[in-house]
Amino acid sequence: MPFNFCPRCGGELVLREKDDGRLRPVCARCGYTLYANPALAVGVIVTDEQNRVCLIERGEEPRKGFWGLPAGFMEGDESAEEGAVRECLEETGLEVALDGLHAVYSYQHATRNTSGLLILYRAHIIGGEPRAGTDTTDVKFFAADEIDVGLLAFHTHREALEKWRAEFA
Ligand SMILES: [Zn+2]
Repeated sequence: MPFNFCPRCGGELVLREKDDGRLRPVCARCGYTLYANPALAVGVIVTDEQNRVCLIERGEEPRKGFWGLPAGFMEGDESAEEGAVRECLEETGLEVALDGLHAVYSYQHATRNTSGLLILYRAHIIGGEPRAGTDTTDVKFFAADEIDVGLLAFHTHREALEKWRAEFA
């Protein structure tokens, strides 16, 4: 159980079996049930006019020094599409327009007891200049045969790029 105290009243959380048969943290004081819903992440496969893919070198843990697609967690006041465009601008300096949904991936971090959903769009550049941004140390474009999947930070990004290679390279 990743949390010990109720986010609503600060009371102690205890594990109780709920109607659906799952053990869930429930507040012993106010009865609030803490649901461990997946985090929502959004990102983009951005290609340039030579059909090369934009990847970023990660400057932060987890997987610092590995490469990945521009992606990050959605804010509560934006759509998935807005979040994907925002994350790309923050991490690469590039303004992009989305071309459609690429794929959706579920992931689990067993060691950190978290899970998430990654929504990826394909996109093209409409402005800006590539530069390392927040949480990134480099931004580069790679042709399909230049991408070293061993240097990618996350298995979801590997799967997404393999799907892109099969369909668009
Ligand atoms: Zn409570």
